[in-house]
Amino acid sequence: MFDSHEIEAVSLLLSVPKKIVLVSHKNPDGDTLGAALAMMHYLRKKGHEVTALVPNDFPDFYQWLPGAGEMLVFQRNASAVKRVLQEGELLFCLDFNALDRTGNMASFLEKFPGTKIVIDHHLEPSDEFDHYFCSTGASSTGELVYEFIVALGDQKLLDKEEALALYTCIMTDTGSFSYNCNHGRTYHIVAELIDLGIDAANVHKLVYDTYSENRLRLLGFALSNRLIVWDDLHAAVIYLTKEDLKRFDYRVGDTEGLVNYGLSMEKVNLAVLLTEKDNQIRMSFRSKGNFSVNRLARDFFDGGGHKNASGGTSKTGMENTLKKLNEVLKRFKEALDYTVSL
Ligand code: 5GP
Ligand code: MN
Repeated sequence: MFDSHEIEAVSLLLSVPKKIVLVSHKNPDGDTLGAALAMMHYLRKKGHEVTALVPNDFPDFYQWLPGAGEMLVFQRNASAVKRVLQEGELLFCLDFNALDRTGNMASFLEKFPGTKIVIDHHLEPSDEFDHYFCSTGASSTGELVYEFIVALGDQKLLDKEEALALYTCIMTDTGSFSYNCNHGRTYHIVAELIDLGIDAANVHKLVYDTYSENRLRLLGFALSNRLIVWDDLHAAVIYLTKEDLKRFDYRVGDTEGLVNYGLSMEKVNLAVLLTEKDNQIRMSFRSKGNFSVNRLARDFFDGGGHKNASGGTSKTGMENTLKKLNEVLKRFKEALDYTVSL
């Protein structure tokens, strides 16, 4: 799975107690949070002093993850984060492969005085790290964290806390086992995690059955009033303005999963969600089959991600972003015209 020299090098680094800093990406999802928290519990058992950092707030439905309350949020506590980074010896970046995925925190990560390690499953990692534990074939970074711990010979240290965190990674990054999960190995790992005593159905409820009334009504509004279908392009777009979000008292996480509704239409191969936040437009892209939204996000919308799930941003306002998206997609009209079959 991993390069044996890389494992040996990191094994040596971890052989004496260290000050370790774990970092999740901006707009944290279940994978980046679960991967960091599993690493936090694991590395503490090995005798290290560990702090987990996150660039901005994460959704309330991840607060139950063991240790989530201890994470330092850069957006709210920049001075504490800077101090931790200045004193750190090892830095693990989890679920992102370029420092700029941490937003304003990136400049402080660049100055990190110690060794930088990345564990991640995205395409095209940057050259900013000292050690790489990357594979785009993995369902999630959580799966790679599990493999990392096994490769270090520490499977016996895994307990319910790590299992809850790692199961959350795999469940959320595969859309509850509906994509990115066509390797038997993923299910072997899930079986091991469940044998550590977690209740998988309960984890599902804690993450997905937590809507507020406002969130459910925002979903209904988005589908009824803010859905555009470009039949000729096999694309569906949902857009939400600042005012829309305010109307439904938007909370972090309320739009998670919304982009997938576009893809649920039979003839749609590309779904996009545009949300107006902090005076820019956040973009989420999802595709079925062969069309690469990673390329689309990288080449046109200052983003990236995976082949079938990526994100980006636009600073030109909602109307112009919609116009640009339509223009760009016209170039891919033929590439978007396909039927996914067996
Ligand atoms: P989401 O649409 O759920 O925010 O993101 C989907 C995927 O794309 C995730 O794997 C996420 O890490 C990645 N992603 C989201 N936004 C960006 C971005 O601005 N830049 C890059 N490189 N990747 C992103
Ligand atoms: Mn991930």
